[in-house]
Amino acid sequence: MNTRDTKTVLVTGGAGFIGSHLVDRLLDEGCRVTVIDNLSTGRLDNVAEHKDNRNFQYVVDTILNESLMDELVAQCDEVYHLAAAVGVKLIMNRPVETLETNVRGTEVVLRCANRHKKKVLITSTSEVYGKAMDDNGGAPLREDGDSLIGPTSCRRWAYACSKALDEFLALAYFEEKKLPVVVVRLFNTVGPRQTGQYGMVVPNFVQKALLNKPIIVYGDGSQSRSFTHVSDVVEALVRLMAEPRALGQVINVGNPQEITIRDLAELVKEMTGSRSEIEYIPYERAYGPGFEDMRRRCPDIRKLEELTGFTPRVDLRGIIQSVIAYFQS
Ligand code: UDP
Repeated sequence: MNTRDTKTVLVTGGAGFIGSHLVDRLLDEGCRVTVIDNLSTGRLDNVAEHKDNRNFQYVVDTILNESLMDELVAQCDEVYHLAAAVGVKLIMNRPVETLETNVRGTEVVLRCANRHKKKVLITSTSEVYGKAMDDNGGAPLREDGDSLIGPTSCRRWAYACSKALDEFLALAYFEEKKLPVVVVRLFNTVGPRQTGQYGMVVPNFVQKALLNKPIIVYGDGSQSRSFTHVSDVVEALVRLMAEPRALGQVINVGNPQEITIRDLAELVKEMTGSRSEIEYIPYERAYGPGFEDMRRRCPDIRKLEELTGFTPRVDLRGIIQSVIAYFQS
């Protein structure tokens, strides 16, 4: 621990959507926070309000820079690893970058954390379940359930595999090197600062609705998702980092409330009072040929509740409202 028990926390990807909300929270708690972000999808604007805070510093660089990472990890007490290639659009357009950042990046983070024996929370994704829920009779996804990933010729699954490899590596460090590691699988996270640029559905729908432009649903809209507000995700991350029983565990973080994408489009339209048309286009037009989606993705969060006593508090309307307010401001 640093002077006078002020914790120093390193947040990789701290200028990103989720990372920047975590940074707000950690600074509020009185931590010293260092961010490393290459601004590939993150934005300095997201953390601009902290630039004069003496507890805050940021480095614009890649987590693949191992000597720099080594220095930053040495100086901190714990690491939240959020830097990753994210967003289905980005993953489809830049597959090499996705694999390199997600596989080699996490490798660097874990190696440095292990060298200095620092506690690390690795964020993974519900994408690692792949199409499991289409195949298991629709039961919510449990951490110890099987994954069902599509063929390697289908680019989308590269992301799932890269994050699954991150999980294997993190758990291997925990088992073999006794590194204190927590692995978190994030389900669709939504809130202020998320852009629709990389494909995410809620900011996309809200932006279109506010402009009275067509809301574009991919496929027939009967696929469903479960959305979690970013404030709930941050709460869960902070609690899991502090919970000794979470070490060496993989934990779902999500909100089990489920909605079809068609109903989501209707709800966004209603809540914005929009005149937008809802249009349906085939997946191929959105993502190119051979794209595979999953029908449903809903978390079982009993493990999170059992470990932290926490359940998400913001419901779907609250989530959408916060995104509307963000784009209106
Ligand atoms: N989607 C959509 N219109 C959009 C963006 C996404 O219909 O403008 C669909 C997408 O095909 C998927 C769901 O909404 O079925 C969630 O997409 P997102 O990219 O937000 O996250 P995913 O859960 O697929 O990673």
